[in-house]
Amino acid sequence: MQVIKEIDELRKTLNYYHKQLESVALVPTMGNLHDGHLSLVNAAREQADRLVVSIFVNPIQFGEGEDFSSYPRTEQHDIEMLQQAGVDVVFMPSVEQMYPSEMLVTVKVTGISDAYCGQSRPGHFDGVATVVSKLFNIVQPDMAFFGEKDFQQLAIIRQMVLDLNFNIQVKSMPIVREADGLAMSSRNHYLTSEQRAIAPKLYQALSQARDEILSGNRDFADIEQKQLEFLGQAGFKPDYFSIARQSDLKKATEKDDDLVILVAAWLGKPRLIDNLTFSRGKEFT
Ligand code: AMP
Repeated sequence: MQVIKEIDELRKTLNYYHKQLESVALVPTMGNLHDGHLSLVNAAREQADRLVVSIFVNPIQFGEGEDFSSYPRTEQHDIEMLQQAGVDVVFMPSVEQMYPSEMLVTVKVTGISDAYCGQSRPGHFDGVATVVSKLFNIVQPDMAFFGEKDFQQLAIIRQMVLDLNFNIQVKSMPIVREADGLAMSSRNHYLTSEQRAIAPKLYQALSQARDEILSGNRDFADIEQKQLEFLGQAGFKPDYFSIARQSDLKKATEKDDDLVILVAAWLGKPRLIDNLTFSRGKEFT
């Protein structure tokens, strides 16, 4: 496995792959890797001849007062994990390598980024879309893998690929959870042991809402309100709890069958996000 820090060097390796007509997959990450990342890596490994994993904590997707400087960085652990997983290249650029001068041209996301995390973290998805498009142009992969854990991010990347004509297949993998239901996340490390015991209630709230919808409650606003209160009582500071439709993330109506419930809530220092997708089937038509 090659560990590459410079774009020019990466391009040499990628040119070699392209000359051999080998397909290339990219898995973009911010490091501090866990089994959620590994599921993307394993899927990518199976589907492409060559696999590039990027590790880059992207400053422009963090807002003021957010955790850019304290974000967990575990380079050595990550490299060992990726070596064992059979990755070909780990691309770990410095901030200077990715942003050598002030960016005057960036990607701007509208509409789909207005609600949920986009509303609470202004500029976040512009930063994500900009760095992902840079990585797409640097690596020029045939396919790129993203987790459904970041459901709104995934929808935005799919939209970006469509709108900007990236010739890249976007593939996604389901959320990987701890045994107690907590979605794996690098930010779980910020939790104290007391908070860690409470954290699975985020998934519990999602499951409760889904079960209510499946048992016939059509009053989505009421369900959202109940779960916001449940989370507040459990010790969270909820940001949003929203029942949306999977296709465009607009607020769900009674007519929609394919739903996603999206949640974000602070639990002490970290802001945790999670979601649950399901179909109501035909029972309400
Ligand atoms: P991050 O390092 O947090 O930027 O995540 C890199 C990629 O891993 C993103 O596409 C995430 O959606 C994905 N990911 C993070 N946590 C999980 C998880 N628990 N299950 C599945 N995918 C995940």
